[in-house]
Parts: sequence; structure tokens; C-alpha cells
Amino acid sequence: MLVCDMQVVDTVAITQQANSSLQKAWHFGCTGRSVEALALAGETLADARAWGDDRLAAQCDTDMAWYCFQVGKAELGLTHVRRAVDFWKSTGEPNEEAYARAYFGWLLLELGLPEEAIEEATRALDLADRIADPKAQSLATNVIGIIFWYNKQPDRAILMSERSVELARSIGNKTYECWWLINLGGAHSEGGYIAEALGQPEEGHRMLVRALELTEQALDIAIETGDSWAARICLGNKAEFYSHLGEHDKALQCIVRYRLFQENSYVRDRQQYLYTLGQIYNNSGKYAEALSPLLEAVELIDDGGSFDSYIQIYLHLSQAYEGLGQFDPALAAHKKYHQAYLRNSAERTQQRARLAEIYYETRRFKEVAETETKRADTLEASYQKLQEETDILANAVYLDALTGLYNRKYLDSRFKELTSEKRPYSIAMLDVDHFKSINDNFSHMIGDRVLSTIGAILRSQLRIADQAIRFGGEEFVVLLAGAPRGAADVCERLRSAIEKWDWSEICNGLHVTISIGVASTLSANSPNEILAIADQNLYTAKKTGRNRVAA
Ligand code: GH3
Ligand code: MG
Ligand code: MG
Repeated sequence: MLVCDMQVVDTVAITQQANSSLQKAWHFGCTGRSVEALALAGETLADARAWGDDRLAAQCDTDMAWYCFQVGKAELGLTHVRRAVDFWKSTGEPNEEAYARAYFGWLLLELGLPEEAIEEATRALDLADRIADPKAQSLATNVIGIIFWYNKQPDRAILMSERSVELARSIGNKTYECWWLINLGGAHSEGGYIAEALGQPEEGHRMLVRALELTEQALDIAIETGDSWAARICLGNKAEFYSHLGEHDKALQCIVRYRLFQENSYVRDRQQYLYTLGQIYNNSGKYAEALSPLLEAVELIDDGGSFDSYIQIYLHLSQAYEGLGQFDPALAAHKKYHQAYLRNSAERTQQRARLAEIYYETRRFKEVAETETKRADTLEASYQKLQEETDILANAVYLDALTGLYNRKYLDSRFKELTSEKRPYSIAMLDVDHFKSINDNFSHMIGDRVLSTIGAILRSQLRIADQAIRFGGEEFVVLLAGAPRGAADVCERLRSAIEKWDWSEICNGLHVTISIGVASTLSANSPNEILAIADQNLYTAKKTGRNRVAA
């Protein structure tokens, strides 16, 4: 009996100790000590295996995948994360599976496999959505954002990354906020480079300046939390953006600051440092100086790093050789760059990214419908539950089939609730501009696709507490929770997201804008009165030129 008790105590103690080791490792990973994090999680993994604790082992595998990413050992990370994904799938733990799949997707992208990456990342987001875990949603959304960024679709990347930053902020997770801000900055820089390539230097400049601001915000957090790994990436990125803007001195200052954080530099960020330095020298015409860091970066390629670094290293190396008039090595380096670049930006990949987006949207609705059907089966089980279940079932009746948004019926039921609630809120009324001529000029089918895309944009843009409703035809209502102050800003963001959306994907020459009228509990008491004021404001927005918000 005594022996038995002691064993129970021991198992509990061991589990507690293992959990605290993993937490300690995570702390290392958030404070620039990822090699230590990897070692500690590796020790815990060995212990878990020795004890036959598969669950703990899978936790170690999941975390180790991330540390492997941080230190630039993507392939090793894959072996860990694959095992973890299989395990979480077999135990049916969607939240754990969501994290593991998100890392899996990220590592696949690092290794230059964007098609596989998007598949894992969308599955991760599916799982995270299903359990409504904002932290897992934040991670998965961020990974999808980076995939779009690397595949040169900055608008989508920005939408996703903004959402991941917001989610991180909503749960007060500084580390995630910092990391995802870095990627949001990266997505903006890509938008800037593309704008420049399209002959829009002003837009390019604006996007790069925004990229700098966002990266500066990330750097502030990195310094506050002691995350030297993130700080190095921020400074490397800032150096790159400044250099691109022709501000070579500021770029070099960033590189000098970078050296202050270099103590625990890993192959991934060491490569970034070296090729960024090479790029700065190239951009200021100092090709001979550029050569030595770039050749050192080439030496490091076999030690790991990312596929993107590989592309950058050979691009800048070819430019340095070209500047020096050494055309043979320039051509050799350029060939390597070009092959890798083609692989990364293949048309097929971009199509897959778009398909995955559509797949993700349809899956979400199917899942809602399936959950409702399953719930219907249990209706007979208990009379007590009948009332509750009927309410849940009614939700299916509340969805609009074309856009996947809530419908008018749902709005009516929310209005009843809002009447008895005391909390402040705002109501926005949205109407597509000149929608009749979209139908006339492009067909009714295209018109329908515009409406469903607007539905998807609204869903991706809104905060969790806000709700979008298809009011009827091409009119939408958005219920915005909380203090009315921010409502106009949210509406402006919606308006701008729709204006900036790449509608040419649906049909060449298609442009879509919306007008918005907004009103809040500051103007009236009942939801119907507020809606009427929002509608009047919408009328004002239409009369004063459309494509605007009237509050
Ligand atoms: P305005 O900017 O003043 O709002 O111009 P508008 O052309 O959008 O004006 P109006 O509200 O009169 O036009 C709405 C059109 O939307 C008319 C109708 O044929 C079309 N519509 C309504 N529901 C649907 C739908 O489900 N699918 C499609 N394709 N069209 C719809
Ligand atoms: Mg209308
Ligand atoms: Mg209209």
C-alpha cells in the first residue's frame, strides 16, 4: 500500500518537474536562448521516452520544432513535429494538434515547400477555429500570412498578419505580438518592393516606411521582453528596409546595433546578418566589401538556415560579382538564385494558396452545418436539453448561404437581446457602390462572387466580438461591440480592405467599393433607432461621393 502511494506521488512529482522544464525551455526560447531551450526540451524528451510518457514526449516534440526553427535547423524540426502531429491526431486533441500543424507549416515553408505549408497551416487554423482558441488562431493565422508574404501576395499577407497581431494583443501575449509584428512588417516590405517593380515609387516608399514603423514596434517589445533573437531579426530587417530606401547610414547603424545582440547568434540569423550586410554594401556600390560577408554566408548554407536566405544570399552575391565585373561567378550565382526563385514563386504555388483560401472558407461552413446536425441527433436524448438544443439548431437558420454571414433573422434576434442589454455598441450599415452596374457589366454570377468575397473580407477583418450580417441584397450590417469611439476606425478599415482587394482575380477590370453609415448608442437607445440613423448616414455617404464612411 505504502509502495503504491509513493509511486503515485512520484509520478505526479515527475510530471510537475517535466512541465516546469518545458516552461523553462519556452522561456529560453522567448529570451534569445533557443540553443539552451532545444537542449532542455531534448533532455525532457529523453526522460519522457524512458518513462513511456507519450503525451509529454509529443509536447517536447512540438516545442522542439519551434526551437529548431529559431536556430535554423528546419529539417531536424520537421522530424520532431511530424511525430507530434501524428500523436495529437491519434489522441484527438485539436488544440495541441493546431500548434503542431502550424509549426509544421512554417518549417515546410522554411524548406521551400509552400504548397505543403499552406495545407498544414490551413488545417491548423481550422482546428484552432473549431476550438476557438485565440492563441492557436493567432499562431496559425500568422503562418498563413507568412506563406502569402513569401508567395508575393502582400495584400493577403497583411490581412492575415494584422489579424494574428490583433489576436496576440487580445490575449496579452507580448512574445507573439512581437514576432507577428516582425512578419507584418515583412509583408509590408514585400508590398513596397512589388509596388516599386510596378513603377509606383510613392506607394513603394509608403509601404517601406510602414514596414519600418512596424518593425520598430516589434523591436521595442523584443528589448522589453529580453528577446535577443527577435531583436536581431528586427535590426536585420530594418537594415534591409533602410538600405532599400537608399538610407545607407541608417542601415549601417542598424547593423552596428545588431552586433550588440549577436552573442547567441544562430545560423539562420547569422545568414540574415551576412547577406543584409552584403546587400547594404551592394546598394552603396561597395562591391568588394560586399563579397566577404556574402562568401561567408555561402559557407554557412550547409549548416542550415532557410530557403529564403539561400535565395537572398545568391541574389546579392551575383550582384556583388557583377559590380566587380567578374561575370562568370556572377552568372553562376545568378543561376542558383534564379532556379530557387522560380521554385518559390511558381504559378502553381500561388494558385494553391488561393485554392487553400477557398477550401478554408468552405470547410468552415460545412463544419458549422455538421456540428448542427450532430447536435440534432441528441435532441431526443433528454427533454431537459430540448430547449437549449433548439436554440443551437436555430443558428443554422441564422446563416446566409451565399456569404456565410449571419442573416436578417439573426439580426432580429440580436436586436431583441440588445434592447435589454446595457452595454454600448455601434451599428454600421454597408452598401456596395453601383452594384447594379457590376451585375450589368460583369454578370449576375460575378455579382454573387463579389458578395461572397465581401463576406469573407468582413469575417477576416472583424474582431471576435463583432458580427457581420447580410441584411439583404448587397447590403450588410455590422454590429460592433464596445465603446463607440473605435467604430468609425473599424469601418474605415473595412472600407479600405474592400477597396484594396485584388478584384481582378474574379474578373479583369472589376473594382468594388462600399459606402458605410455608422451610428451608436450615443445617438439613440433602441437598436432600430440606431439602425435608422446608420441608414441615414449611409445615404449621406452615398450622396457625398460613395466609397466613404459617414458617422
Ligand atoms: P448605389 O451605389 O447607389 O447603392 O448603387 P447600386 O447600383 O448598388 O443601387 P441599388 O441598391 O439600386 O442596386 C442593388 C442591386 O443589387 C440591384 C439588384 O439586382 C442587385 N442584387 C440584389 N441582391 C443580389 C444578389 O443576391 N446577387 C446579385 N448578383 N445581385 C443582387
Ligand atoms: Mg442597395
Ligand atoms: Mg448599392
